[in-house]
Order: sequence, then C-alpha cells, then structure tokens
Amino acid sequence: VRKALGIGVLLVIALGVAVGFARRDELLAMVPYRWNPWAPVALTEPPDRFLRLRLERLRQDPRGCADLLASAATLGDLMHEPVPDRETGPGCGFAGAVKVSATSLRVGEPLAMSCPLAASLVLWERHVLQPAAVRRFGVPVRRLEHYGSYACRGIYHRTGGPRSQHATANAIDVAGFVLADGRRIRVRRDWVPTESTPPRDAERPTDAASTGDAAAALFLRDVRDGACRYFDGVLGPDYNAAHRDHFHFDRGPYRVCR
Ligand SMILES: [Zn+2]
Repeated sequence: VRKALGIGVLLVIALGVAVGFARRDELLAMVPYRWNPWAPVALTEPPDRFLRLRLERLRQDPRGCADLLASAATLGDLMHEPVPDRETGPGCGFAGAVKVSATSLRVGEPLAMSCPLAASLVLWERHVLQPAAVRRFGVPVRRLEHYGSYACRGIYHRTGGPRSQHATANAIDVAGFVLADGRRIRVRRDWVPTESTPPRDAERPTDAASTGDAAAALFLRDVRDGACRYFDGVLGPDYNAAHRDHFHFDRGPYRVCR
C-alpha cells in the first residue's frame, strides 16, 4: 500500500511538472514584473534588478523589441517607422532598424537606429532624463541636440581598425538639451569633470559652477549616471578629449560607463 501511495504521489508530481511546463508562459505571466526576469521590458516600469537581463534579451528578440517601440509610440514617447535593411560598406549598415523622427523630444532630421538603441533611448528619457530635468530645473526637456546616430566609420573616425557602433546605427552622440523654457544645456560647456579625473584638455572649462551653472552640471551628471543603466557603452568628457563635447551612448557588446 505504501509503495502504491509513493508511486501515486510521484505521478501527481510528474503531472504537475508536465502541466507547468506546457503552460509555463501563462504561469510566468502571473508572476509580478519585478519578480520575473523573463518578463519583457515594460516601458513604464522603473529600473529593477532584472533590467539588464531584459535589455540584453531585446538584442535577440526583434519582435519583443518592436513591441516595446510600439508601446512607446502609443504613449507618445516615440515617432518611428521601419527602415529597409541596408549594407553601405564593409562592416557598415543595419538590419531591423527604425527611423526615429521624434522621441519624447524633438530630434531634428529623422535618425536611423537599431531597435535596441531606440528602446534604450526612450527608456532613458522616461526614467532618467525627464525626471532629472524636472528635479533640477522644474521643467522637462523639449529638444535633443545630437551629432547623429548612424555613420559608416571606425572608432574615433579612423579609417582602418574596428568599426564604431555608429557603423551599425547602434550608437548616438548627445551634445545637449533644450528645456521647455528655452534654456540650453551643453555637455561641452556645462560638464564638470569628476574630481578623481584630472582634466585632460586645457581648453575644456574645468568648473561649470564658476559660470553659475551648478544645476546644469548636476543635471548632466544625473543624465550620464542614469544612462549607464539603460545603455551598454556610455562615454563622456571624463573618458577622453574626443568626448569633451558629447555623451556617446551605445548598445554594443561592451559595458563601459565613463
Ligand atoms: Zn559616438
């Protein structure tokens, strides 16, 4: 009797596992977002411990990435359309990219971006940039000033050597912001180097506070630090002189936050 009971219990467990496996998507959907590493990135959710994992998955999941952009469009955080795949040279071009004509910000001429880059951009604007602007200045940002996203080139504009993430529309260079009240914040003028990093470039203003722009300096620090949560590569004036006037944000293979 005991043996039969044991076998019965095992069968019930096996059945439970089989049903659980067959319906795992339904079961996982019942797990709250913040406890569920398999949940797709939700635009409206604040960053949590599984954010990196979810962002990583977007790379391998064009459908999920497109869904995220569609949700951003619904919320008014993005105006975009698909752009035909292109190969413009050795190591240059893009597949599955979008043309972004606006985010929550005006961006000027439409920009080609890989889907993961566009996704990180809208997430960063919503959870980092706009809250920082309201916190520091009491108004949101209206316009993104940038040096573009796609460019068929090598790192640091070298002709040989490895391709930049820009060559696959996987990076954007952000030069500054215009607030809703017309105020302009510039990386070149308003960035204050991190204390531990000695200035590498004599030309660069070393103390934005002396121009009375401490709020701008703090804002740019918030914006850079927050970007490191949503992008993979984040390089700014603290990194080197080539980045003295912009933040480089990419969804490339390497994690760097400088
Ligand atoms: Zn760049």
